[in-house]
Amino acid sequence: MDELDTTVAHPARRYNYWLGGKDHFAADRESGDQLQALFPKVRLGALANRALLQRATRFLAAEAGIRQFLDIGTGLPTADNTHEVAQSVAPDSRIVYVDNDPMVMVHARALLTSSPQGRTAYIEADLNDPAKILADPVVRSTLDFAQPIALMLIAVLHFVHGDGAAKPIVRELLDALPPGSYLVATHATSDFGTPEQQALYRQLIEEGKSDVWTRPKDEFTDLFEGLDLVEPGVVPASEWRPEPGVTTPARSDINLWTATGRKG
Ligand code: SAH
Repeated sequence: MDELDTTVAHPARRYNYWLGGKDHFAADRESGDQLQALFPKVRLGALANRALLQRATRFLAAEAGIRQFLDIGTGLPTADNTHEVAQSVAPDSRIVYVDNDPMVMVHARALLTSSPQGRTAYIEADLNDPAKILADPVVRSTLDFAQPIALMLIAVLHFVHGDGAAKPIVRELLDALPPGSYLVATHATSDFGTPEQQALYRQLIEEGKSDVWTRPKDEFTDLFEGLDLVEPGVVPASEWRPEPGVTTPARSDINLWTATGRKG
């Protein structure tokens, strides 16, 4: 396990801070506050992202019949994690979590509370090295690659920096999955900002003050090339199959694209 460096802000802990959790250090709070000063609704975005993860998981288990989940970019455990939602619908669901933050490993036991009929597992690995994830013995022994698997890339691809850098990673992972598998992703975007906000955001990334590499709708949509998009297609995260009666926040408050696609 990598050294736990608490002096540098980490996305998992900053996200935990925004969600109101307890697992963060001063550097994470400082980074969280800085981003929140520029984007006052960022906490709303984190909550909307988490709600999407739960709706999409429920869809996969209840409507798409998925029983296996590869959830990369797990985050620190909070309420209603992927395995809890999936196993509440289908107790025999099997889930492998993957994250590269050593602090998530510290909490992994909380992620491993499987139903007796199902299984959960956790590995520490980097999304930038898909071959290693796919070859991992824990991944291989927990998931059956002859049966459909849902690849969950929820609020993690925007930590892969560079124009066009996310697609080869997604391709490599999807290529390993059989027909009938699914990809679910959410991704930060600057598309809903004013031109001034977009320019400011670009500057923050270039100066290394933000680690979130936003992508526009076209590039996000291209990640799903060759998949059949499930209705309603590529939409802001809180507009994907919202729960009835829940007010949908403004797109410019959430700043996240989402889609779910099926491999034919
Ligand atoms: N998917 C969860 C958590 C999102 S926070 C949710 O949507 O609620 C983003 C997570 O991605 C963090 O836990 C962070 O540690 C992890 N992460 C960031 N870069 C990563 C990488 N290169 N490889 C694996 N995990 C990464």
